[in-house]
Formats: sequence, structure tokens, C-alpha cells
Amino acid sequence: MSAHRSGFVYLVGAGPGDPELLTLKAVKALKKADVVLCDDLVHEDVLDYVRPSARIVRVGKRGGRASTSQSFIERLMVSEARHGHVVVRLKGGDPFVFGRGGEECAALREAGVEYEVVSGITSGFAAATALGVPLTERGVSRGVVFVTGHETSPSLRGEGWGDGQTDWAALAKTGLTLVIYMGVARCGEIQRELLAGGLSGATPVAVVRNATCPDGVALVSRLDRLPGDIAAAGIGSPAIIIVGDVVDAAAPPQGVPMPLRLRMATVSGNER
Ligand code: SAH
Repeated sequence: MSAHRSGFVYLVGAGPGDPELLTLKAVKALKKADVVLCDDLVHEDVLDYVRPSARIVRVGKRGGRASTSQSFIERLMVSEARHGHVVVRLKGGDPFVFGRGGEECAALREAGVEYEVVSGITSGFAAATALGVPLTERGVSRGVVFVTGHETSPSLRGEGWGDGQTDWAALAKTGLTLVIYMGVARCGEIQRELLAGGLSGATPVAVVRNATCPDGVALVSRLDRLPGDIAAAGIGSPAIIIVGDVVDAAAPPQGVPMPLRLRMATVSGNER
């Protein structure tokens, strides 16, 4: 067989949920795929673009299934490609934003497998858009930081996002919009550290769960009330937390048809 018969891997961002937010490149890759390795944050309807003959392998890490190890996923991608298959590795949001895309590219390079990365709309963008919040705004915010909230606790160091602990106090001083992924479970610690770093308790904060999905829900709160309001609204993962004055603009865009319209959670006693 010639070299052209060797397989190919597309690392594809499936976007935050709504299949209409897929890129044309993503749809093209899905239509070519022999095998799709699918993460669990990917909306089911995205798989409508896959040919009926293609094999779909769920490699998600949630939903009650045993977790699939990263090394297994990497080995599977490589072996399928070496069998001459077109493989799509489908990930929620963007592969290069908390998506382990870099590790997978390294594994493919090491194995000598050709690949291409297809950007997706990251959930941080989608959450802001769903709320009508600009992440940067002249005179309000000069930039934006994407940060994981997953590893705030020193006890969790070394489990995934590097050994260093996030310096929330330093982030608090930047005046930049903070877009926090995987932060809901540790929102109390994040709140404490941002307050200790000098952010005002009145700083507006928004939480958006399942942005662009039919069951999407959002909460607008302030830093000093954040953990209580998240608990009262019953908002769990997967959610994005946006911290900063840009959140003052929050007003879900008008005219978005159901079911993608965002439901705003209300918390009693929250007069914001
Ligand atoms: N690569 C993904 C991020 C994966 S990390 C991306 O670019 O979006 C998983 C985290 O992403 C979740 O804990 C949550 O913080 C966020 N997330 C993913 N999909 C989301 C959605 N539809 N709405 C809100 N947050 C989402």
C-alpha cells in the first residue's frame, strides 16, 4: 500500500452544544470519518453528520461510565490511523482550550501519524454570547483570562493542570475579565481568594450552565454572594463562571428561539 493509504486524524472541536455552532470544516471531517472517538460534552445531534457506516466510540469520562484513560484514547487513535482509517477525535468546545489537544497532538507526532486540528467555539465564548456579555469592552475590560477553577485546592495539585496553584490574587489585580472553566465545585475557594486579592464583593459575576443547549440556565450574581447563589439556583457542572464588570451588561439576547433561549435562574433575596 502506498503512503496515501495511511490514515489521518482530525482533532475536532464540536463547539459548546448547539450543532449549528459546528464549523464547516468540522462537518466535512465528520462526513469523512471511519471512526469517531467522542467525548461526553459533545451534543448527540452533532453525530448526525457521521456516515451510518462509521464506528462511534464513546470515550467520555462522565455519565456513570468508567472513565477512559487518556493513554487508551491516544493508542486507539494511533492504531486506527495505522489501519488506514480516517479518525475524528471529537471534543466539546475547542480542542486546545482545556481539551488535552496538545497532549494528543504530541502522541500523534510521536507515532508519525498525520493530523489536523479543527477549531471549535469554546464554551467560554458561548457562555458570554448567550448572556449578551462582551468579554472585552472599551473602558471596562482590556482583556480576558481563560482559567481553570479545577485545581484551587492544594490537595488536588498535580492531578491534571500542573503543579502550580493558580494565583487568584494576582488575577484579581489585573482588572481583566475572568472566564473560569470547571469552577463550580470550588467556587467558594475561588471567591475567597479573589476577595483576598482585592476584588470588591460587589464585582458582578455570571454563571452559565449548558450554554447553547436546550436546558441552558444562567445566574447573575456578585462575588460576595457567589457560592450561596449557585447553591440556591442549583447550578452544577458543566458551567462557566464569568467575573468582571462586563457582566453588568448581561441581558440574554432577544429573539433567540426556544429551546435555545437561556433560562435565567432567580435567587430569592438577590435584589441585584
Ligand atoms: N474544550 C472545552 C472545555 C473542556 S473542560 C471548551 O473549549 O469549551 C470542561 C468544562 O468546560 C466544564 O467544566 C465547563 O466549565 C465548560 N463547559 C463545557 N461545555 C459547556 C457548556 N455548554 N456550557 C457551560 N460550560 C461548559
